Amino acid sequence: MRIDFLTVLPEMFESPLGCSILKRAQNKGLVEFAVHNLRDYTTNKHRKVDDYPFGGEAGMVMQIEPIDRCISALKAERDYDEVIFTSPDGEMFNQPMANQMSMLGNIIILCGHYKGIDYRIREHFITKEVSIGDYVLTGGEIPAIIIADAIVRLIPGAIGDEQSALSDSFQDNLLAPPVYTRPAEYKGWRVPDILLSGHEAKIAQWRYDQALERTRRLRPDLLD
Ligand code: SAH
Repeated sequence: MRIDFLTVLPEMFESPLGCSILKRAQNKGLVEFAVHNLRDYTTNKHRKVDDYPFGGEAGMVMQIEPIDRCISALKAERDYDEVIFTSPDGEMFNQPMANQMSMLGNIIILCGHYKGIDYRIREHFITKEVSIGDYVLTGGEIPAIIIADAIVRLIPGAIGDEQSALSDSFQDNLLAPPVYTRPAEYKGWRVPDILLSGHEAKIAQWRYDQALERTRRLRPDLLD
């Protein structure tokens, strides 16, 4: 898989893509990331990529030309399965969407900024618009990193124990059951006896019951 990020703030990607599982996945050759500074694609001599909105609203709007030039240059090199735009009015990102996206080959994620992007970009280049929640952030970089993190960890081999991604919250529409580690007793607070019993089938049943109980209590909407 290859993910190309289009941004005016390439430095925001350095640390998130450069540590932990995302770094390891790149080193293992499971994913390739490329971060493109949209200012490298403008013909404006001051490297400006935004301008005032027509109709005189407040805020600045990202211009079509640098984004067109960047997307066109990338598409000339390879085919893309999706050109994604991060946007608060997009489809809500969730685990089923992450599962589906983790099976794609090459994707572009365009990060908006300021007041947003010239709408013609959305009409002519974007194939999917994704929101990470009903709130407004200053830019699409953090949403793009969240999307990348959620999908890359699902690529087989990205996380050590492959089973572990499948037993996380939202797979099977259930929240994850509680987990514990050593010591078995701390300040008198004991780990549930069943987990120390060594009885695999009973432990599996307990985990399922806990997942169901927590989902009913905390997120009944998932069971509908
Ligand atoms: N004026 C826009 C918000 C612009 S915020 C509106 O009202 O919809 C600037 C940029 O941040 C957006 O273009 C988008 O790329 C990103 N962004 C902000 N909130 C987001 C969210 N919840 N999900 C995904 N991207 C978001």
